[in-house]
Formats: sequence, C-alpha cells, structure tokens
Amino acid sequence: MPLVNAASVPTASASRTQIVVAIPVESADEVDSALAMAAAEIAAGATLVEWRVDSLAEEADGLASVLRLVRECKAPCVVTIRGVAEGGAFRGNEMDRVSLLEAIGTADPAPRFIDFELASLGCSANIRQKILLAVAHPPQPAAKKPQLILSSHDFQGRPSDLTRRAVAMWNDPACAVAKLAWRARSVRDCVEAFELLHQAPKPTIALCMGPFGMASRVLAAKFGAFLTYARAEGDPGTAPGQPTVAQLRKLFRFDSISRTTQVFGIVGWPLDQSLSPLIHNAGFGAIGFDGCYVPFPIPTEWEHFKAGMHALREFRQLDVRGLSVTIPHKEHAVRFIRECGGELDAISDWCGAANTILFRPDGSLKALNTDAPAAVASLAVALALHGDTSASLACGQDPHTVPGGNEMRSAWRNIHVAILGAGGAARAIAAGLALAGARVTLFNRTHARAEAIAHSLHGRALPGGGEAQVTASRMDQFSGETFQAIVHATSVGMEGGSDPEGCMLPPDVALHQKMVVLDTVYRPLQTPLLRMAAEQGATVVDGSDMFIRQAHMQFELFTGHAAPAGLFRRLVDGSLRVR
Ligand code: NAP
Repeated sequence: MPLVNAASVPTASASRTQIVVAIPVESADEVDSALAMAAAEIAAGATLVEWRVDSLAEEADGLASVLRLVRECKAPCVVTIRGVAEGGAFRGNEMDRVSLLEAIGTADPAPRFIDFELASLGCSANIRQKILLAVAHPPQPAAKKPQLILSSHDFQGRPSDLTRRAVAMWNDPACAVAKLAWRARSVRDCVEAFELLHQAPKPTIALCMGPFGMASRVLAAKFGAFLTYARAEGDPGTAPGQPTVAQLRKLFRFDSISRTTQVFGIVGWPLDQSLSPLIHNAGFGAIGFDGCYVPFPIPTEWEHFKAGMHALREFRQLDVRGLSVTIPHKEHAVRFIRECGGELDAISDWCGAANTILFRPDGSLKALNTDAPAAVASLAVALALHGDTSASLACGQDPHTVPGGNEMRSAWRNIHVAILGAGGAARAIAAGLALAGARVTLFNRTHARAEAIAHSLHGRALPGGGEAQVTASRMDQFSGETFQAIVHATSVGMEGGSDPEGCMLPPDVALHQKMVVLDTVYRPLQTPLLRMAAEQGATVVDGSDMFIRQAHMQFELFTGHAAPAGLFRRLVDGSLRVR
C-alpha cells in the first residue's frame, strides 16, 4: 500500500536546502531591529527569513507590523504565528489567529510561505477553509499567495504517530512543504529524520530539536530537506539546538554538503567543548574532500552507545565512514567492535580502548587508537629520539617493519616514563609506550587501577621480540630522579574538572633538567603541573601537541590524505590560546 496519494503531491524538491533564519519579533518596538538582524543574516548567507510573530500578532496594530516585516524584508520570508499548543506564545483566540493569517496571506506583497500546524488545520472545516483562502491552493510556486508549510512539533520527544503525521502532510493537496520537528532523545532520532527525508515524495523538513539534534540540522542538506533552521547571531533562536547561520556555513561547510557527501563525526558525552568538528571540517575544505563531520552525542551507558552505533551503521544511506570516539566511550568502542566481529589495531587490542572507528565500504568495522601513538610521538620529539613510531603504531603495524622502527625501539629501551593516572588515556599511553619499547611506571590516586593496567600489560610479548615492561607504584614513592619523562593523564588541572587548580605532584618534588613533562590536559594549555615543571627547568609539552597529532592520524585514516598540519595548529591555537 503506497504511503501517499501520488496524484495529489508535487515531487520532492531537487534544489539546494535553504537556510532559514528564524527571528522572533515580540512587539512593534522590535520591528526595526528585527529587520536589521535579518539583513545581517541574509548577508551571512540565510536565503529565507522566518518571522515568528506569536506575540506581535496579539498587539492591537500587530497586523500592520507583520506586513511591514514582510514588505521590507530583503529575502523571501515565512510568517508563523505559533499557538501555545505547539510551543508558541500566541495566547489569543484560534479564529483570530487564522483570520490574521488570512489577512497576511492575501496582502500584497505576501510572504513566500505561511506555516500552519497539521493538528490545527484538521480542527474544523472553518479553519481549513480560511487557511486555504490564505495560501496558493493547490501549491503553485509562481503564485502571488504564499505556499503552505504544514507543520508538526513535539517539544517532549518523538511523537508515537510520527509516520502517520508525515503521510497526512504528504497526502494533503494544500501542503507545499511538510515540516516535522521533534525533540530528539538520542542519535537514533536524527537517523529517523533522515529516513523520513529519504522517502519524502514532496518537499519536506524533518528536524530534531535539542542537544541530540545538531546532525539532523546539518545533514538535512545531504538528504535534500527543503530547509534547515538557524538562529541569528546573539539571539537564543526559536527552538532548542538551532545553530547560527555562520556555524552552519563556516563550521559545518553547509553549502558543500550534497547527497554524495560522506559522513564523519564524534561520539562522546558531553561534546560541547570538542574542537574536532572545527578542525576536521576545515581540513576537508582545505583538501577539497567531500565530507562533513558532525557531533553525535551519546550518553554514558553502554546500552546507549550500542544502540547509537547500530543506528548509525544500519541506515546505509547516511554513509558514515568514520568516527572519533571520546570520553566515556573509548572502551565501549572496543567492546562494540569485538561484538560485531570487527578488526582492532594492535594498541586498541592491547589496551582495550579505541578513539577511532572506521566504517569500511564492505560494511566491516575497524577500531584504532591514535591517542597512544600521538603521545608516543609527542614524547619522542621532545626527547629527541629518532625514527617515527607514530605512523606504524597508528596503523597497528610492527614498528620493526617500517623505516626507523628498530632504531626507535632501541632508543625507547633506555627511556623510563612515569604515567600519572590510570584512566582510559593513561591505559592507552602505557600500551603505546610499552609497544614502542619504553619502561613504564604508573602512579594513580586509586592504586589498584594502576596495578590492574600493569598486570594486563606487563610481560606481553612485543612484536619484534622482548616483553612489555609496565609496573605500578604508589604516589608517595614517586621520585623525579628516576624518570626521563612524565606523562600526566588525569583530569587534575583541567578546566571544568573536579580540581582545576590542582597538581598531581607535590610542590617539593625535584625534577631534573633533562626531563620531559607532557601534560595531556589541553584546557588550559598551561596547567599547574607544567608551570611547576618549567620552573624547575624541565622541557614541557602541552596537551595540544598530542591532540593535534592524534587528529592528524584520524584525518589521514578518514580521508586517505595527509592532514593540513599548519591549518590544524592555527585553529587549535586560535581556540585554546585566545581564552
Ligand atoms: P578517565 O578515564 O576518566 O580517568 C581519569 C583519571 O584521573 C583517573 O586516573 C583518576 O584517578 C584521575 N583523577 C580524576 N580526578 C582526580 C583527582 N581529583 N585527584 C587525583 N586523580 C584524579 O579520563 P581519561 O580519558 O583517561 O582522560 C584523562 C585526561 O587525559 C583528561 O584530562 C583528558 O582531557 C586527557 N586527554 C587528552 C588527550 C589529548 O589529545 N591531549 C586525549 C585523551 C585524553 P582514579 O582512578 O583514582 O579515579
């Protein structure tokens, strides 16, 4: 049974997805500033303006103000007077709202679109009749009257009758554009929005609101959505989770997204502070790669991770090719790959944590860890060791099989590294250093966790011969004389962490001047630990070096091309040093 009455509907638009900036105008006093705001957003790239006039429409002379907004707007516009039932602020009588829309729709000039709700249109024959007087019916793009955007909103979650609503809109001969917006509860909602767009027989908008919805707003362009909503700079917007026009166009390169665009992203929780979308998208632009990198927030529990990953994997038209994995899902990534029968590189297999997942064209998955080789490479440069273990480790290869591998292994044999911490990052770095041939001693607040890592790594056979040397020691036995390098891998000293002013080493600890101290924390760049180490003459390396190196490796795994190194450094510096 077909979902829609094919004879009654125009086909889905093949033209580009428009960016509409939604501007709320509450009173006549705001009309001038709203017009100025719209002009700025049109200059920034918005192609449509939505005037949200819920409160303005209730004013005594509200109609005249709305008509002025339509008349003086520098781009085609949508007029929306949203009632309280669907998240708006219009509290007046329903027939008054409909009469206002009729007056707006029959004015000259009229807006390009009027938005009206599916639920309200079906309320009475009278309402439907008046709305049909306000719009071009059936829809004709060249008509003087507006086209009807027939809409449905749910600010709580996915409506249980989502598909029924979509079909009702698609089948309504008055509907020029179908709009479905709901508050996403997980990444799966975004995938469902894409599925709706994929099967839409007429111009359609399917968007997810809230923190889980950004991918649906950005990748609307990949699925040929009629439009996506943005908020004006400095304005809170008209729905939760709207990006600005500038974010869509500059951060996500919205104009370059098409049906062929490959999808990449980051999974983690929370993701607000992540620099990865900024650098990967800019990198794609710099090398002319047809990709888009978006945030896929997934809450902490394994069940959420598993469900989110299956959703991303199973809707093949989404064309996900690669994901960065961050806190708290690095261990979940390895578990997921094992459950799916995918492949693990040597480090993620050794340490049980991965920060990169590749979705290969044949449907298979591979997980890798680029954190560890990045930290190893950062230390190698600071310690002036020769060779390049980073590339070989990133690819899970035996360092002996690549140029510089043997030389590097013997150089690392003389290096004893203290790792402060025993979380996911510490575990990966310990495995990477042990694989490179270094001796490692872990120190952690909870000693048992350090011991567990040492127990799982110590004595494992190294690919080129010999055994991994990993031990654990108590914090009060730390001596700065023993080590050539210290790697700090806890959240102490991290902005927003539990102890941002803290330092894992006591103030009286003596460090020697040939020592390298690497802090994995990069917010802020200068941590209390690095300040203390620098004062004692040690060579210090901040966390941005490791971050950029791991991003380079991911970029190369994602695109097959070397990352634009200078660009990544500039973007990271710009974001972190400005603060
Ligand atoms: P995690 O798994 O949550 O581990 C947290 C670690 O911090 C544990 O060792 C924990 O000790 C310790 N810790 C937390 N609060 C502490 C406190 N108040 N006092 C003493 N120890 C404390 O986190 P993770 O994934 O390993 O990340 C650790 C750090 O690495 C973060 O700062 C992260 O930003 C950084 N990192 C940087 C990069 C990069 O590219 N630069 C990449 C990955 C990670 P207990 O075991 O006692 O709880």
